[in-house]
Amino acid sequence: MSLIVVGTMAFDAIETPFGKIDRIVGGSATYVAYAASNFIQPINQVSIIGYDFPHEEVAELKSRGVVMDGVEVIKDKKSFFWSGRYHEDMNSRDTLVTDLNVLADFDPKLPDSYLDSEFVMLGNLQPKVQMNVIKQLKNPKLIVMDTMNFWMESAMPELEKVLKKIDVLLINDAEARQLSGQYSIVKASKTILGMGPKFLIVKKGEHGALLFHADKVFFAPALPLEEVFDPTGAGDTFAGGFIGHLARTKDISFENMKTAIIVGSAMASFCVEKFGPSRLKEISKEDIDKRLQQFRELVNFDIEIR
Ligand code: AMP
Repeated sequence: MSLIVVGTMAFDAIETPFGKIDRIVGGSATYVAYAASNFIQPINQVSIIGYDFPHEEVAELKSRGVVMDGVEVIKDKKSFFWSGRYHEDMNSRDTLVTDLNVLADFDPKLPDSYLDSEFVMLGNLQPKVQMNVIKQLKNPKLIVMDTMNFWMESAMPELEKVLKKIDVLLINDAEARQLSGQYSIVKASKTILGMGPKFLIVKKGEHGALLFHADKVFFAPALPLEEVFDPTGAGDTFAGGFIGHLARTKDISFENMKTAIIVGSAMASFCVEKFGPSRLKEISKEDIDKRLQQFRELVNFDIEIR
């Protein structure tokens, strides 16, 4: 069951209350690929990088079954660069710099070998690029999409068109409020499900995530961690675990999406332990299984209703 991942492969500069790093590999598609490759390979990667993107990183991704045929390399331009600073509570951040560089001309033409991909992860990108990818695919089985406030403000008409084509929208609570114009997340979910997606996942950082579908709702907690070192990429890592599990099990039912959300939450809990994707490169299958077990214990209780 093949997975296609579309998004940025970038350099980030990150500042948190615990430390600062001027240059580390990041980008939505990088995080999704590192997380999803634990569950499914190959991954058909679609992105654009400049001359400066490290060869070792490309080699590392390839060694994890990430196919780079759909990653365009622009020889005379720099890779996308993003810089952010986290607030004390680590749930919110300010974007300091967004240098599009190669991303300004991103208009992906999918290699023939990608066209039959069935599971689709559209990382946060210009809605018109996301639409362009959907149009090229022959027979997608499940399309999951991330977006952000920037596109709601600058490209709402295009975003509304993409929302009509996708199955699962994955956004955070502030984005859900902005997209729907509703403060209550339950009311917001109804408005957003009316815009096209069949499923909505609302991420609430350290407070977990909600899955909405028709009149059903499911809640998954985040693992209570003593220390969150760097939340950058946690959302993309969550998405990678979520779609990786669905693609591996080939089951897109609401019941299986509940498990996929727990898998996504477990992967995200690793991501935040170190700067950038560093922690994701260290973990083994045993580490992931152990963490999934911790999630099971966290929410497992018997209750007697008299
Ligand atoms: P997350 O923390 O999950 O929201 O993702 C952070 C990653 O998104 C960083 O590694 C950035 O390189 C990337 N990123 C930040 N802003 C944008 C943007 N406007 N478009 C695409 N990717 C972005």
